[in-house]
Amino acid sequence: MSTLSEPLVPVLPAETGKRTWITFSRAIRRHCPYCGGGGIFSSYFTLKERCPHCHTLFAYEDGYFLGSYVINIGVTELAAVGIVIWLMIATSLSVLQLQIIGVILAVGLPIAFYPVAVCLWMVLDLVVHPPGRGSGRPRQ
Ligand SMILES: [Zn+2]
Repeated sequence: MSTLSEPLVPVLPAETGKRTWITFSRAIRRHCPYCGGGGIFSSYFTLKERCPHCHTLFAYEDGYFLGSYVINIGVTELAAVGIVIWLMIATSLSVLQLQIIGVILAVGLPIAFYPVAVCLWMVLDLVVHPPGRGSGRPRQ
């Protein structure tokens, strides 16, 4: 019989496509990609060391989340450039107005997207290194 404090054991599909879809849908909601539990951030920018539901250790090595910065900057800066180009084509805003909007987007989007980028990095890790099967990815 299980108790509420007992950690959940995450069960993810072995099939890569299903595992990717499930973990991706959890990540964009800022939930644990392993078990789907919420509340994995102690503040907007701070990920808890372990999932409060399944107790999975998130950063199992130093520098683990460096890839999330690449995802964050890559996605958000491409979006910012795309929005500014769309505004150039679709509106009659002045160059100064476009520059102001571009700077606001270039600074604001990475801040807004940061927690999702952290979760997406864990998803990418799960797709490449599925838990179990000798992946070398420790849970504890
Ligand atoms: Zn979890």
